[in-house]
Amino acid sequence: MDNCIFCMIIDGKIPSRRVYEDENCIAMLDINPATPGHTLILPREHRKDLSEMDEELAGKLMMAARRIGMLQKERLGAVGFNVIQNNGEAAGQTVPHFHIHVIPRYENGPMLGGWVPTEPSGDELDEVLAKML
Ligand code: AMP
Ligand code: ZN
Repeated sequence: MDNCIFCMIIDGKIPSRRVYEDENCIAMLDINPATPGHTLILPREHRKDLSEMDEELAGKLMMAARRIGMLQKERLGAVGFNVIQNNGEAAGQTVPHFHIHVIPRYENGPMLGGWVPTEPSGDELDEVLAKML
């Protein structure tokens, strides 16, 4: 897709540090990593976000994320890893080409930002549940 930075990377018009690639996806180092080895998995075909993915492609990319997480543990000494995937600007998606973040976690590594847990009442939880059923 024109004007998509990740499509340009896939086409080789913009350089990238590729860790892994196959017929469905590429995995590259994030240029602004949360921790050393932070990797992005992206489909070769443009998909805006998870809403445009099909089951087969999503499954293949998740297995690529598994491969990268295990590589981070074996080669980089990570002791765990996070798999994060943002959909829409409101969710923090800055590049509108689907991607999965695989972030290696190290002993004594930095705290990473997350949500602040809230404490709704049972009634409030039931109200949300009723809307979702
Ligand atoms: P998100 O906020 O989930 O859309 O994540 C986009 C990620 O893409 C960010 O972590 C950026 O650091 C990363 N990024 C943006 N441009 C590039 C690039 N040219 N090469 C590698 N990573 C990039
Ligand atoms: Zn794209």
